[in-house]
Amino acid sequence: MPELPEVEVTRRSVGGMAGARVLAMQMGKPLRWPLGVAPASLVGLIAGTWQRRGKYLWLPLMQAEGASAGGLLWHLGMSGSLSFTAAPGPAGKHDHAEITTERGVLRLTDPRRFGAVVWSPALDMAPAAKLLAGLGVEPFDTTFGPADFHAALRGRRTPIKQVLLAGDIVVGAGNIYASDALFEAGIDPRAPAARIGPLRAGRLLAAVRQVLAEAIDAGGSTLRDFRDAHGSVGQYQGQARVYGRAGEACSRCGGIIQRIVQGQRATYFCPGCQRR
Ligand code: ZN
Repeated sequence: MPELPEVEVTRRSVGGMAGARVLAMQMGKPLRWPLGVAPASLVGLIAGTWQRRGKYLWLPLMQAEGASAGGLLWHLGMSGSLSFTAAPGPAGKHDHAEITTERGVLRLTDPRRFGAVVWSPALDMAPAAKLLAGLGVEPFDTTFGPADFHAALRGRRTPIKQVLLAGDIVVGAGNIYASDALFEAGIDPRAPAARIGPLRAGRLLAAVRQVLAEAIDAGGSTLRDFRDAHGSVGQYQGQARVYGRAGEACSRCGGIIQRIVQGQRATYFCPGCQRR
């Protein structure tokens, strides 16, 4: 499923749409949530600069005179990807939302249809604000420091891996990245979050940032079908530290990387390098 790095890679790859006028919008089969507006009502609006919040993308739309008209909140769900191409072929059976602009066509391809595009009058108004409520801070938010992270972990008795995955403290550490960040920080994924001291919390926050930045640089991870808006696959999975490497030798200590299941998700770790 597309995680924060893949969504950020997508945001960067659709940037060429900014400033383009909407000529048409078409919806295909129902997605996770309804659009909430008549597609034809968007014709004539101008695309602004794409923003990302967690795994959501926000496309602001302006009136021709520059006044804000609202925007579209996108989520890629389990299997979604966005493409933006000057001359796309006919829509396929998994293409369920399409915006034609004077500069190219934006298309949401989503075989499993857990993705969505939702109209909202503003990012901080319903329905967008409601969908974004409960998200943790952005991982690269420099106003959030090690002491804040440590304080947030103190009340949690659940294993640290699941606290990272929940994304209500810091967003972005999805399954691949949580495993790798915990390895980088030397923390056992089963350690209760509340037991992680201030030093280790600081190391973990830095590791989350490092792993996510590396993943964005690598174009994200493509486990099944992620593509950026130009059709490129991500490369991070090939450089993962422990994720997907059960039975292989740890790059640090030479021990064997293990796979366990936590909350029905696979976790990979090195028992030699990662401590509770
Ligand atoms: Zn090791």
